[in-house]
Amino acid sequence: MDYTHFLRQQCYINGKWCDADNGATINVSDPGKGKVLGTAPNMGQVETERAIDAAEAALPAWRAKTAGERAKIMRRFFDLMIANQDALGELLSREQGKPFSEAKGEIAYSASFIEWFAEEGKRAYGEVVPSHAADRRIVTLKQGIGVVAAITPWNFPSAMIGRKLGPALAAGCTMVLKPASATPYSALALAVLADEAGVPAGVFNVVTGSARAIGGELTRNPKVRKLTFTGSTEIGVQLLRECADTVKKVSMELGGNAPFIVFDDADVEAAVEGAIVSKFRNCGQTCVCTNRFYVQDAVYDEFVTKLAARAKAMPIGYGMDEGVVIGPLIDMAAVEKVEEHLEDALSGGATLLTGGKRHTLGGSFYEPTVVANVKADMKLAREETFGPLAGVIRFKDEAEAIALANDTEFGLAAYFYARDLGRVWRVAEALGAGIVGINTGLISTEVAPFGGVKQSGLGREGSRHGIDDYMEIKYLCMGIL
Ligand code: ADP
Repeated sequence: MDYTHFLRQQCYINGKWCDADNGATINVSDPGKGKVLGTAPNMGQVETERAIDAAEAALPAWRAKTAGERAKIMRRFFDLMIANQDALGELLSREQGKPFSEAKGEIAYSASFIEWFAEEGKRAYGEVVPSHAADRRIVTLKQGIGVVAAITPWNFPSAMIGRKLGPALAAGCTMVLKPASATPYSALALAVLADEAGVPAGVFNVVTGSARAIGGELTRNPKVRKLTFTGSTEIGVQLLRECADTVKKVSMELGGNAPFIVFDDADVEAAVEGAIVSKFRNCGQTCVCTNRFYVQDAVYDEFVTKLAARAKAMPIGYGMDEGVVIGPLIDMAAVEKVEEHLEDALSGGATLLTGGKRHTLGGSFYEPTVVANVKADMKLAREETFGPLAGVIRFKDEAEAIALANDTEFGLAAYFYARDLGRVWRVAEALGAGIVGINTGLISTEVAPFGGVKQSGLGREGSRHGIDDYMEIKYLCMGIL
């Protein structure tokens, strides 16, 4: 199947493909070519309310199925995603810019959550609690929470949906999704496959258009019992406020400011490899991307020299071109943020080792950049850069590294390289992050709980815990026994 089969320019509500009521559309661009790829409906409050009504109407029948019945449909959904991995990957690469190989990897990752939660749904056990009274028995049930609203970002246009849709479907919930306006096609492609897999009408709805109008209705409408969001802390805070009025359950996967520490007992070669993956994957546009490097005195020079050499050698280009590992940034605002952070660092005395400018390909292509002699108070160490800019800070001892790493309001991912077992445990326990990569720069998998502490979020996605965010515990107290 060609990727164009999945390029749907309509929304999916109650099992039907539809336009905005007023026919309005938004343009969707290919960030690599800078050209319009197509349009998506510019929907607002009215269409969103219709989608919520459809999700509510579909709820009783979906909830009434056994977990096994839902799992069979989800398994078909997973199989279809894998069977169409190339076409879905190409669509994703074209709308988002990431290299085709990464895009295909994302499709597999996205699908893995559908498969995993199909199985976990069967294991959403309640419990029998030893009673507090001779004539009473206590039992708990776990039940799907109801209609779920999901709002997702452009950096992982498929995976951030798979992660939410998997547990929601498995728990017997129905969903209204608003994908990012920059990348609606991967979301709509999932609707094509959900339909084909036999997900009933109304169980999964996709609405594109005005973030404010759609988001406003998703958070206001009392029929929506849960909001799951991945995006910036700023918007997450706003959505949390909006959800307060109807006391919705919320999951928030927000911004990060991941530290990457290299201790003097580390395998420096391995640390450089981990650094490349963790910093430059998706052109630095992931919420778990390293944002600041801390390297101990004794290995500092070796690390920065090797990191710069590796960064310089990374092939840059259009996502669908052979061998490319660095694609374009999502838009020019993203380029300007990188430039602002770089300028701030260089004007404060940091040293440019490689990159440092827009790529000759033009548009939003930017060279992988490494700067040394960075100070802890520079913008690139304090704010999420979300681009291919690596700044390296020198430190003396373990206590200093931990203090520097934890000096942030964020707490999503943290990484460190060390071989001393005592140090590994000490540092792992001391880092203020929901996820710690130890001697690895890659931490995402559907089998582990993903999520942040502090202002990086609420809740966990993936693992056996992930389904709990979509369920309520009901306690049954039986008397007169
Ligand atoms: P990013 O920096 O990754 O674009 P955002 O938080 O701006 O992160 O966007 C993440 C998602 O939130 C996108 O789908 C975006 O359209 C949506 N969004 C942005 N503003 C709002 C809003 N006011 N209400 C609801 N959703 C919003």
